[in-house]
Amino acid sequence: MNHEEDSTGAIDKPRCHCAVFGIFGTPEAAQLTYYGLMAQQHRGQEGSGIVTAEPGNGAAKTRFHVHKDFGLVDDVYRREGLFTEVLRGTAAIGHNRYSTAGAADNKANIQPFAVMYKGGNIAVAHNGNLTNFRTIRRELQDQGTIFQTTSDTEVILHLIARSRRERQIDQIREAIAAVRGAFSIVILTDTALIAARDHAGFRPLAIGKLGGAFVVASETVAFDIMDAEYVRDVAPGEIVVIDRSSVESGTVTSLRIDERPASPHHCIFEYIYFSRPDSRIFGHSVDKVRRKLGKNLARAHPVRPRDPSDKLIVINVPDSSNTATMGYVQETNKTGGKAKLEIGLIRSHYIGRTFIQPRQEVRENKVKTKFNTVRGVLKDRVVVIVDDSIVRGTTSRQLVQLVKQAGPKEVHFRVTSPPIMYPCHYGMDFPTPSELVANRCGGDIEKIGSELGVDSIGYLSIEDLLASAPREEGENYCTACFSGRYPVPIDATVSKEEHEA
Ligand code: SF4
Repeated sequence: MNHEEDSTGAIDKPRCHCAVFGIFGTPEAAQLTYYGLMAQQHRGQEGSGIVTAEPGNGAAKTRFHVHKDFGLVDDVYRREGLFTEVLRGTAAIGHNRYSTAGAADNKANIQPFAVMYKGGNIAVAHNGNLTNFRTIRRELQDQGTIFQTTSDTEVILHLIARSRRERQIDQIREAIAAVRGAFSIVILTDTALIAARDHAGFRPLAIGKLGGAFVVASETVAFDIMDAEYVRDVAPGEIVVIDRSSVESGTVTSLRIDERPASPHHCIFEYIYFSRPDSRIFGHSVDKVRRKLGKNLARAHPVRPRDPSDKLIVINVPDSSNTATMGYVQETNKTGGKAKLEIGLIRSHYIGRTFIQPRQEVRENKVKTKFNTVRGVLKDRVVVIVDDSIVRGTTSRQLVQLVKQAGPKEVHFRVTSPPIMYPCHYGMDFPTPSELVANRCGGDIEKIGSELGVDSIGYLSIEDLLASAPREEGENYCTACFSGRYPVPIDATVSKEEHEA
């Protein structure tokens, strides 16, 4: 698959590395994990895995069962009897992944990772990116540790296995305290489901209840699909332990990873693009924030037709900018403009992973394979295209060309994020800085507009972006891919390699 697109049809968007899910206290653990992963398919489409824990009878020990493969959730868990005969158990964790370059063909990299060590069975699934994993990995390799994957997550398992602490929870705590960067983790042991989140809380992680059982997921859409009730988020720097006593008492055990205080810097891109609008992340509705992004953008960069008798229409780039576009239209009309929300771009939902590339002339305009225009809607209109982000710029340019072919009078481009200038080291995959159009144009917005071929272009400023996202006292957002200000230091080797790439 081309790096510029994924199987959901999103082209030239940053990739989220993963979704995690965990459940404890129900005989339907595997099937419910499947639903939880299905609802979070947008966070990773290249592979999926589930590990279940089947409690032993009498003297028999707990057994772990694993199933994982490449593909979409619907494909990976098709086998008949998989949930009843293979993935037996009353607790489970699951993971959807997006693979980074070079690791795509290695099945061993599909999470959760499960091993047996001196403390029993243990499995881990991780969303995020560990910023010091290369240093830890090198140290562990120097001491003789053999790695089976190229994933940063594997270091957590090795750190747990090598811990000299007596109690398993202390081994896990020690391992998690040693890693840095972004992690929302679920861990399955013989007796418990454990969830942990880094001190900055970059990635979302929520706890819910389903009858007597507990569920944990990256996004709350995973709870909605099974009618689980959202309880709260795992707090930055917190470890939550869910075991039999939790099911009996209805409460979880909460520990701190270590003495370091939490320093929340949630990923603001989760609101802009990654999370589903029907999710609640960082304690807030994504839909609400996304509408506000659109409203603030309309205020900062209004569009008024040069000729007042011309009709102004605003179109979304389906599906990720749908909600923000509504906010843009609403605010335009509230502030003296006269805009109409129109569906001017139609996205094909049926372009699959094995899509055969069309003939050369069509391939040159790749967006044509994903989008088509409704000509009657665009012809002779002043058109505003609202998108959530621009990465390389190639897709946006092709999209503009496509819209222009429908004969509009003017085409304006509005973006509900600031220009992406820098790489993400906390779990999102952007192309190298030199490939980012904003970086290539040295942050010159007018130049980006000329590259795209539009009459005008407007990005949301970092200030307006921050003003769109609610926050409690002491809470902040990471804006590093726009500002270059990284809230958590990056491993020197990673930093050098990726910034220079
Ligand atoms: S760098 Fe950007 S994508 Fe990465 S965590 Fe920060 S805001 Fe999110």
